[in-house]
Amino acid sequence: MQTCKLFTIDLTKIKGKGDFGCPKCGARISPDDETEKTYKILEAVMKHDELDGITLQCNRCDCQIHLTGFRSLNTQ
Ligand SMILES: [Zn+2]
Repeated sequence: MQTCKLFTIDLTKIKGKGDFGCPKCGARISPDDETEKTYKILEAVMKHDELDGITLQCNRCDCQIHLTGFRSLNTQ
């Protein structure tokens, strides 16, 4: 399978509740979706007891996507 480069998505630049489409295949990915049907979480980065970032992998195209901007999201 073709490998995919790592995408970075800043949640503060996304409208709505943090849902976004996979940059490669367009699969709908929601951080609130815990079923892991669309994606699986590879790594969660914590800073000062707060979620700082998540690296996840799209199940449809195997792209790795790094999410940032969680703290700004929580303060809204
Ligand atoms: Zn994808």
